[in-house]
Amino acid sequence: MFRHRRTDGPRLETGVSDAGPDPAAWAPGGGRSSGLSLERLPIRALARVGPKIAERLERLGILTVQDLLFHLPLRYQDRTRVTPLAEIAPGLETWVEGEIRESSISQGRRRSLKVWIGDALGAGLLLRFFHFSPQQAAALKPGKRVRCYGEVRQGPQSLEMVHPEYRLLRPEADEPIAPCLTPIYPSTEGLQQRVWQGLTDQALALMERSAPAELLPLKILEPLGLPPLTEALAFLHRPPVGTPLQDLIEGRHPAFARLAFEELVAHQVSLRRMRLTQRRRQAPVLAGDGSLCQRLRASLPFRLTGSQERVVAEIAADLAQSRPMQRLLQGDVGAGKTVVAALAALQALESGRQVALMAPTELLAEQHHRSLSAWLGPLGIEPLWLAGRHKGREREERLAAIASGAAPIVVGTHALLQDDVTFQDLGLVIIDEQHRFGVHQRLKLREKGGGEDGAPHQLIMTATPIPRSLAMAFYADLDLSIIDGLPPGRTPIVTRAVPDTRRDEVIERVRQACLAGRQAYWVCTLIEESEVLECQAAEETARQLSARLEGVRVGLVHGRLKSQERDAVMAAFASGALDLMVATTVIEVGVDVPNASLMIIENPERLGLAQLHQLRGRVGRGSVESHCLLLYHAPLSETARERLGIIRDSTSGFEIAERDLALRGAGEVLGTRQTGSIQFRIADPLRDQPLLAEAQRAADVLLVDYPELVMPLIDRWLGEREHYGGV
Ligand code: ADP
Ligand code: MG
Repeated sequence: MFRHRRTDGPRLETGVSDAGPDPAAWAPGGGRSSGLSLERLPIRALARVGPKIAERLERLGILTVQDLLFHLPLRYQDRTRVTPLAEIAPGLETWVEGEIRESSISQGRRRSLKVWIGDALGAGLLLRFFHFSPQQAAALKPGKRVRCYGEVRQGPQSLEMVHPEYRLLRPEADEPIAPCLTPIYPSTEGLQQRVWQGLTDQALALMERSAPAELLPLKILEPLGLPPLTEALAFLHRPPVGTPLQDLIEGRHPAFARLAFEELVAHQVSLRRMRLTQRRRQAPVLAGDGSLCQRLRASLPFRLTGSQERVVAEIAADLAQSRPMQRLLQGDVGAGKTVVAALAALQALESGRQVALMAPTELLAEQHHRSLSAWLGPLGIEPLWLAGRHKGREREERLAAIASGAAPIVVGTHALLQDDVTFQDLGLVIIDEQHRFGVHQRLKLREKGGGEDGAPHQLIMTATPIPRSLAMAFYADLDLSIIDGLPPGRTPIVTRAVPDTRRDEVIERVRQACLAGRQAYWVCTLIEESEVLECQAAEETARQLSARLEGVRVGLVHGRLKSQERDAVMAAFASGALDLMVATTVIEVGVDVPNASLMIIENPERLGLAQLHQLRGRVGRGSVESHCLLLYHAPLSETARERLGIIRDSTSGFEIAERDLALRGAGEVLGTRQTGSIQFRIADPLRDQPLLAEAQRAADVLLVDYPELVMPLIDRWLGEREHYGGV
């Protein structure tokens, strides 16, 4: 249970009465302190914040006093007590005190000042300074008492502190030590911890007069043992003596949990609101009559699996509603999502509506266009492909076909989002590989359409399985459909990690596979962050392998080939006219050649687990046993070893994602860097997983019983960011 012991921390000054403007003057109520709102009080109102400091704070997103209060310490130092010399141990960061016994300047490899201190019990410690002035050396002379703060280390002969902070003690005055743990703030150049201390002292004093609004009702907080907001903030900025440091640093302390929880609730509330708003919108009823769907099913060379059927039914039911579907379809690589999407598209077509399919890369869009054409062409439906490279007349013709409704299905990349693309009556939007698109983009496509009767339905497909816990936190505005397992008849891929010193053996293996009539991929990975270099590496590898592998027909694809050339090479490989395909990571998505059963991945340690899993999914699509060799360059770091181990031991995308998450954290797994999708300030969905379910419950309670708290909460934690939600 959380107990906050009040501390009267050192107040340098509050800045209210002396230097600087009077913050009350900023209050909307004409200076009444009750009207003072820290949320609007600019940071400049604090004492000693001039343009320079204000500008530096702004760099960290701190504009108001409230922003400052929510800027939490990164870690803490315990300066509340002096550890007796007899009790110190390596690794401890603490105050110590002693009498100087000896002091000398050594001229060894590096000139240094060595000062030995000791106490009455005979324990001692060596202080070592590499940078010192003659005055310092003279002042630190035997007989003086000194107090030092620093980290204890094991030196060659004894315990030591290198460059401690220190001050000489005067015998008569027992100098005070800190009354609470010392916060260390995340900072930026030119803002020392001293400055942060002074600023937060002022902010905390102001908080006592005018607390930030409490946005979570006691009814929610109390059962969870979480403190009120101001208590939590005061505690985190100035934790009292005796607070378990480790709990604080690892974010497990209730005061910390309280803030993480509030942030999670804010996100949940925001996502719920988007969802509710969506649900209130109209959407065209796409009931379909089953005619096209039946014909597609009859033409497929396979039967849908049980979980594909389940998902198809979930989607069909959604489409028949008059409110927009917002469904996330998850399924591992090769699980068969495309056919599910095709059936959804046909249902929309049966109802006389247009369909847009958006993919993250041209190659993937092209692949979708190809599969859809192969399936739907025989039904008399020609999907239209809109690519960035369609220019001039060609583009205009395509745009006209989209605008008139002559094109029932349009496939493309984010080029579909451009303003000149208008649909006649868009009924369904299908987005592949959701994690590569930001929320904005998803919403923008939605705005494209629906005609009079509202927003189009949305189906979002992802092959990067998102662990359920995260899906809950990030996609609370979506319904979830999962295709579990792969279609029958696939044999699992056997994966092995092989050092590149055995490259010759690996090449031999490729020869045997190809001569036995099987096909193989050789994937060259990014050498640097440069597509040019990556392509050059692939060209070079293709040359070497052709020279070495007589009788093996080698092809090459990379991102810098013209798409016609790339098409031709891919088609040759698919038809069996090529045996070995040397490629860059462009083949990650969108290639489907069931006879390919061997994949070599060079320098796999450079790739993320999700990407490796995607790549590997290019093999194992037929009935022969497939192999994947991870040709790594030794020595591997500890994590690299661990990550390759995960790929070797598991072929389940879900399991890989869970373990990747534990290893790397949520941001990396979801690829937030590319997408700019949800970023948390304080919460960490992995660490705070136990709070997630509670946060969802709390969001429901707020929306129903405390609607007045909803917007303030969203503003506090998401600010501008929610507004692109178009709510
Ligand atoms: P992904 O989910 O990765 O997009 P695809 O839709 O590309 O997977 O499907 C992979 C391969 O599996 C394709 O060749 C597809 O035709 C085939 N496939 C899909 N569903 C089935 C099924 N039920 N039985 C057999 N093969 C299937
Ligand atoms: Mg796919």
